Amino acid sequence: MGLEHFDVLIMGAGLSGIDAAYHLQKHCPKKSYVILEQRQRIGGTWDLFRYPGIRSDSDMFTMGFSFRPWTNPKAIAPGEDIRHYITETARDEGIDRHIRFSHRVLRAAWSSRDAAWTVSAVRRPPDGREEPVTFTCNFLFSCAGYYRYQAGYTPEFPDINRFTGRVVHPQAWPADLDYSGKRVIIIGSGATAVTLLPAMATTAGHVTMLQRSPTYIISMPEQDAIAKRLMRVLPIKWAYRLSRWKNIGFMIYVYQLAQHFPNFVKTGLIKKISKALGPEYDVGTHFTPRYNPWEQRLCLVPDGDLFRAIKAGRASVVTGQIERFTEKGIRLESGEELEADIVVTATGLVLQAFGGAELEVDGRRVELGNSLAYKGVMLSDVPNAASVFGYINASWTLKADLICAYVCRLLNLMDRKGARQVTPRNRNEAAVAPFVQKFSSGYVQRAIANWPKQGAKAPWRVYQNYLRDVFSLKWSSVDDPALEFSNPSEATLKPAPEAPRHQLA
Ligand SMILES: Cc1cc2nc3c(=O)[nH]c(=O)nc-3n(C[C@H](O)[C@H](O)[C@H](O)COP(=O)(O)OP(=O)(O)OC[C@H]3O[C@@H](n4cnc5c(N)ncnc54)[C@H](O)[C@@H]3O)c2cc1C
Repeated sequence: MGLEHFDVLIMGAGLSGIDAAYHLQKHCPKKSYVILEQRQRIGGTWDLFRYPGIRSDSDMFTMGFSFRPWTNPKAIAPGEDIRHYITETARDEGIDRHIRFSHRVLRAAWSSRDAAWTVSAVRRPPDGREEPVTFTCNFLFSCAGYYRYQAGYTPEFPDINRFTGRVVHPQAWPADLDYSGKRVIIIGSGATAVTLLPAMATTAGHVTMLQRSPTYIISMPEQDAIAKRLMRVLPIKWAYRLSRWKNIGFMIYVYQLAQHFPNFVKTGLIKKISKALGPEYDVGTHFTPRYNPWEQRLCLVPDGDLFRAIKAGRASVVTGQIERFTEKGIRLESGEELEADIVVTATGLVLQAFGGAELEVDGRRVELGNSLAYKGVMLSDVPNAASVFGYINASWTLKADLICAYVCRLLNLMDRKGARQVTPRNRNEAAVAPFVQKFSSGYVQRAIANWPKQGAKAPWRVYQNYLRDVFSLKWSSVDDPALEFSNPSEATLKPAPEAPRHQLA
């Protein structure tokens, strides 16, 4: 049939896909690979999101690749700078030549007889027509992020169609949106809302952040003074490495402090906000969350820009429940009515695994919600497949780097063993927890039931802890008893066992 075959097929050309390709080129130089990317550019999240002020909310010394120093003085960096960094990395490493743009993966079917995946995708050439394309590969590596690209999440707001102004979602920001002098309401209180508020407030008439409940917010310097000093006196690679470890250490310290002394951390965070906004400001209502720190992602604001916009009167925060939209704006359950020309629904993402692609093993559909995650990288009873899901409490790339290096070690071990397939087999581990634990953010709670589960102990745990992952993915032997290494003849002699269902009680 003339299908193209690759040793490894990577889905996605974002941070993780480029990271995966770099590691393959370095550690498995003989393996052929291709990256299928549904968009027309490199960058993933940092290409898709174009709202005003878009920036990282973790520092770039930990969000940058381990192998390429982040040299920009901004530790909290604009989205465009991050996109450049990813694109330049792909270009300098010759990775861009391996990318097929405008290719969306729809389905991947594993055959134990062939020890190969058949990957079905659609290609959308510039004329807009969609045409099916099929590839085969030995190993499928999903670097497709964690959310649906096609559309973000918007709750059903009553009477939204009555509103005569414009409603926009940050995931589909209209390039022509002119908000200068306009009254803007941003619905939401997460990272996107707190980024949008100061950015839009510079030219908007007034910006109101309308939140159902508050989020923890912490102000950090946009530029990392210590990292800058290190860069002046040390070779860039050393300065980067030291800054990275400094920030990893700090992040672990803050997270562990929040886990063990939540009240202490809560008081500290709120005190800082009160200081920034002044004694008259109602911090209790607008900036004191109902949950403990780090039960949801901590929102980071550079140099207190959010608080400065509020203090200057260019923006305000309203905490309340939306009753319905009106012609002029939004009516709250309290009876208050907020008028607006533009409403921004910063209401979040729709979580999605494997880029929405369907997986099948020997004719049986893989129900992700019934599978158990192996080291947070592979799935029980699914051969030759891995995916990147980074940290929710730290920079994504820290875990992406570990996973990419781990997958290379696994591929090399398969070669040494002469095994063409590797399958995590769960023999007696029960599902005891969702993929992401102790995290109450709406976008996680809405979808987590359909994600793989975790067991009670390693290797079936998904850690949100970099040091544990360094041990699990980097220092532990890859040759783990839970991994079954085999070849097609053996696999086809034995019929594949009925996949156990791993459901939480
Ligand atoms: C607004 C926003 C801000 C964020 N800020 C931070 C931050 O400050 N720090 C942090 O650590 N994390 C942050 N994150 C998480 C962020 O997504 C990761 O940092 C990182 O960009 C993830 O990289 P990725 O390559 O794994 O996924 P993505 O960036 O999502 O890239 C996935 C790629 O896969 C492609 N793809 C998806 N499905 C398919 C398919 N079926 N076929 C082909 N291609 C497909 C997409 O087009 C995309 O190019 C943020 C996320 C968002 C949405």
